[in-house]
Amino acid sequence: MNEEMRTFGYLCPACGKPVMGARSVFALEASDAEIACSCGKSVLRTDFDGEKYKIYVPCGICGETHVASCTVERVTRGATALGCAKTKQFCCFIGPEGTVEKNLRELEILAEKEKRQEGAPAPETFLDNVIMYEVLSELKEIAARKDGITCACGSCQYGMEIRRSAVDLVCRTCGAKLRIPAATDRDLDDLCCHLKLVIPGEKT
Ligand SMILES: [Zn+2]
Ligand SMILES: [Zn+2]
Ligand SMILES: [Zn+2]
Repeated sequence: MNEEMRTFGYLCPACGKPVMGARSVFALEASDAEIACSCGKSVLRTDFDGEKYKIYVPCGICGETHVASCTVERVTRGATALGCAKTKQFCCFIGPEGTVEKNLRELEILAEKEKRQEGAPAPETFLDNVIMYEVLSELKEIAARKDGITCACGSCQYGMEIRRSAVDLVCRTCGAKLRIPAATDRDLDDLCCHLKLVIPGEKT
């Protein structure tokens, strides 16, 4: 009997939490394993046909379920990672507990960062919702003025990146940034004194 333990880890696509579970090599060969997230909305399955393992991985990066076919060696020895078919990033780790845990933590941080970059964050992610709302509407007013928001490089094309406690105005021509803090009443007062905003780009 092979009692060596193998740990499986993935990120739950439903709740975003890292999920880990260990099975002995013996148990993996004897029956299909299921490792479920505590939220109950995702489960990783292994399916052994006597030759190869099929592993169904709920993908915390793209949200789909990926199926990987792995040799016995790959599943039961060393450490390995399975990739997301869409993003080519690793979305599942198999191996000793410590290795899986470490990789999974990195994946969690990465996935969080990617979520944050997908446009505006959800309202509850702001440090102060009211201030952020006021700052955004003030920015809208400034932007509506003629040449309200321009860059020192001469461009008037800009993008807006909304963060937790600030808004970045980014010049689309030269990439220069102007950070507008949006955390306190003072930030709002400061902004309201400006009739126009100039992103500090390089003059050409
Ligand atoms: Zn979950
Ligand atoms: Zn994926
Ligand atoms: Zn510029």
